[in-house]
Formats: sequence, structure tokens, C-alpha cells
Amino acid sequence: MALVLFSGGQDSTTCLAWALERFARVETVGFDYGQRHRVELAQRAGLCERLTALKPQWEQRLGDDHVIDLSALGALSDTALTGDKAIEMGAKGLPNTFVPGRNLIFLAFAAALAYRRGLTHIVGGMCETDFSGYPDCRDDAIKAMQVALNIGMESRFVLETPLMWIDKAQSWALAQQLGGERLVEAIVEHSHTCYLGERGARHAWGFGCGACPACKLRADGYARWRASAAS
Ligand code: ZN
Repeated sequence: MALVLFSGGQDSTTCLAWALERFARVETVGFDYGQRHRVELAQRAGLCERLTALKPQWEQRLGDDHVIDLSALGALSDTALTGDKAIEMGAKGLPNTFVPGRNLIFLAFAAALAYRRGLTHIVGGMCETDFSGYPDCRDDAIKAMQVALNIGMESRFVLETPLMWIDKAQSWALAQQLGGERLVEAIVEHSHTCYLGERGARHAWGFGCGACPACKLRADGYARWRASAAS
């Protein structure tokens, strides 16, 4: 039984499909922290509908969705993801889209929810391969968090990160492997990645400004995946 950190983006949608393939019951959780790309949260319900339409088994397995208000996190962090400022490199070589401690806070809240709901596996789309240098996406950070949560909550949670060691091109390949071309289409059409929250222009890889780091990563991964699949 699993709880998936489901933001409505490409990575977390792939993680949701991954979990639906493996666990008898899957619940989802999203966090509203005042992110500029809050549009991603609005995409979640439509994505769930598309996914459950793909396989009867997935429909049976998908349970409750939860949204947790973390506006306090947005209020105390000064970043390009939560405020109206340009995306640029900041101190320590980190882009100013880094929201300090975000994934650690997400995991702590997710574990508190999983504890109440009796869910043992917590699934997140953290990835160390092309992670923009966010330190809380690192495998070591997640593993340390698992230890802290299990000691602090007297539990045996398993934090699952199926994308940790694959890049964006391989994430598209994983989506196709899990749900075929229809899952890829659902991700292209309905998942949201763009940091600026733009959904105006439709590209081959989906909607977005096409210029922010998140759009570039997604577009590049899609192009590389399609090229490698064709060869
Ligand atoms: Zn963008």
C-alpha cells in the first residue's frame, strides 16, 4: 500500500503509474505551497482520470487523493518558484528555484499522512541524475529521511524513488513501458512541468513556456527519447 507524492508533473505522474502497477492500494498527496506553477495542482484530477482509464487494475487500486496546504513554506522562502522573480543562479551554485528543505518537508508531511492511512511505501519522483543540483533530491538525503522518519515515528516506511538513477529520456521510456503510448499521451497533454505556470503553447512534449529550466529539461528528454526509440 503506497502513498505517491503527486504534483501533476511528468515525474510524479510516471511515479503514480509505477505505483499503480505494483501496489494493491495507492493514494496520492499534493502540496499547495504557493508555487507559481500552481496550475500543476489543477491538472491532477484529469491525470488520475486518464490513468485509471488505461487499465482496470489501476482503477481498482487508486484510492483517495489528499491536498495539504503548505502555504507557510511559500511564505518563508524567497525563491523564483514562489515569488515573482526571474530564474537565475544563486549562491552555492544553486538556481533560485530551489525551495530550501522542500522535499524534506513534503516527506515529513507525507509520512504523517501515510501513518494515519496505514500506507507503508512513500513514492516520490526525486532524481539525482538531472536534478538541477537540488540537494534534497539526492539519494542520500532521501535515505537519511527514511531513517529519521522511521525512528521518529516508530514505523517501517520505505521511501521509493523509481526515477532516482534515470534521466528524463529514460523517464519517458519508463512511462511508455508502464502504460504504453496512451500514458505518454496523457503525460504530454495533461501533466504540467513549466516553472512559470504557462500552458499556452502546445509542443511535442506538452505545454509550457519552452524556455525555463524545467521546460528545457522536459523537451530535451522527450527529443532524446523519441530519437533513441526511432533508431
Ligand atoms: Zn517553462
